[in-house]
Amino acid sequence: MTNRAGDLNLKPIEGKSHVKGKKTASLSRETIPSLLASTVAAFGDREAAYFAETDRRLSYAELTKEVDTLAAGFLALGLEKGDRIGIWSPNRLEWLLTQFATARIGLVMVNINPAYRLSELEYALNKVECKALVTAAAFKTSDYLSMIRDLAPELDQCEAGELMAKRLPCLKNVIQMGEKTEPGMYRFQDVLAKGEPGNRDELDQITASLSPDDPINIQFTSGTTGSPKGATLTHYNIVNNATFVTAALELTERDRLCIPVPLYHCFGMVMGTLGCVTKGAAMIFPGEAFEPHATLQTVAQEKCTALYGVPTMFVAMLEHPEFGTFELSSLRTGIMAGAPCPVEIMKKVIADMHMSEVTIAYGMTETSPVSFQSGVNDSLERRVTTVGRIHPHVEVKIVGEDGVICPVGDQGELWTRGYSVMQGYWNDEEKTKESIVEDGWMRTGDLAVLDDEGYCNIVGRVKDMIIRGGENIYPREIEEFLYGNPKVQEVQVFGVPSDRLGEEVATWIVLAPGEECSEDDIRDYCKGQIAHYKIPKYVRFKSELPMTVTGKPQKFVMRDAMAEELGLIAAKTA
Ligand code: AMP
Repeated sequence: MTNRAGDLNLKPIEGKSHVKGKKTASLSRETIPSLLASTVAAFGDREAAYFAETDRRLSYAELTKEVDTLAAGFLALGLEKGDRIGIWSPNRLEWLLTQFATARIGLVMVNINPAYRLSELEYALNKVECKALVTAAAFKTSDYLSMIRDLAPELDQCEAGELMAKRLPCLKNVIQMGEKTEPGMYRFQDVLAKGEPGNRDELDQITASLSPDDPINIQFTSGTTGSPKGATLTHYNIVNNATFVTAALELTERDRLCIPVPLYHCFGMVMGTLGCVTKGAAMIFPGEAFEPHATLQTVAQEKCTALYGVPTMFVAMLEHPEFGTFELSSLRTGIMAGAPCPVEIMKKVIADMHMSEVTIAYGMTETSPVSFQSGVNDSLERRVTTVGRIHPHVEVKIVGEDGVICPVGDQGELWTRGYSVMQGYWNDEEKTKESIVEDGWMRTGDLAVLDDEGYCNIVGRVKDMIIRGGENIYPREIEEFLYGNPKVQEVQVFGVPSDRLGEEVATWIVLAPGEECSEDDIRDYCKGQIAHYKIPKYVRFKSELPMTVTGKPQKFVMRDAMAEELGLIAAKTA
């Protein structure tokens, strides 16, 4: 509940854009496996997970049993505490088991984006020296096994567990989720069967030897530009963040959280799965990848009380032609996060999806991830227009170009510090030093403003700012404005190069179903409402916008396509 006295502490310090989170709840020193054990002890009979696609349901007691079976299997393969083990798969039970089985014995799980292709996979596996890879066999049009064989043709000639591949020198074990036996690979089910009683006997001893400060997870950040970086997180980082995220939702063991967001991303596996484990709540997976119809159906059928999603997922659900046919009144709360959350969409989620206590969270993989989140008791206005206030035990300052903390209300780059900051990028001291600067501050690259109550607004990315004839333009502001036009379903604003002005404003728009609109209509809608220099010079209508799976707009793709179409020099995207 909102604690009035505590709230005063969340206000900016001395009129500056500098806030510190509450310390009323102490930080936990539990490791992931000891947290799971406590939850099983308290809520063993309660439902832990349901996978709609396979209709598989597990209680917490069943989940922990399977987790131990898999952990024993990993030990039987010779994997040891500290070894890195990749996972490359959409949302499946095997993913959940791998998450908790690796943590049980201190293996460092490495999340690999299911959308990665050969060069990214090769880079990720080699960068962190993965000894094992757990992989889906196939998903939709992706044939994971043939991609792995392309990288490691030696698989055809080796025994499972004895791979020696030229391009993947550290990888020994490939564990695939298919039914068929494949040359050089283990089947997931074989690994489950491999653990000997001796391996099982070791589990508790290994768990007891783990420190909360051990790295336990490397998340390759999706990044919309640049090469992927392996953010390295400890038990301490993510157990605590998961605890605070679901506490802000007032989640309990009676809640049922629908998780359509990908597990390879912190939204799924920290805020989602681990967040549920901290409370004994049920994790409900509507599908292997997000699909609006399946998500709505699962929420209705499973009577979910909470729902997570990035803004584009909520847009897709709200716009679904059958939206009105689903009974969603079981919903109470949830989180929209991962990208700017338009006010209009938040309002609809509250009014039409019954999520009266929905919150917005803001954060990044490198900070475990969340550092701001609205509370279920914050006013409606604050909940739809800001990312809430500072999370417990976290400190944030907003810094101007001169490196000095801005006055309240001024915009600058958001810096975060506290328990939640990652250990660093695995095996990349240089990039770590660029991001985590003196005194442990993580530079987020996000532009933000704090108000005098400590509520935060994310204005955009430092790099996305458009400079047109010397005027600084924040795409987010124009996007919010255009979302107010009922004809507009999705919109992104970005800069394109201009000889005369340096940059010009461009927008790509997806119209709501059945709507028609011209470029001039959009400009007319802006005239007299926003400053002339912010009115998009280029307007294009698209059937969809390039987004990452985690809902991040790929502005560099839009920028390059527009520059090419207009015959301009390709914009610099790095
Ligand atoms: P990732 O590391 O993939 O979680 O991406 C982190 C980035 O997503 C942040 O640095 C922000 O740019 C963006 N982001 C996350 N949550 C929000 C939010 N609520 N509002 C605006 N941007 C967000």
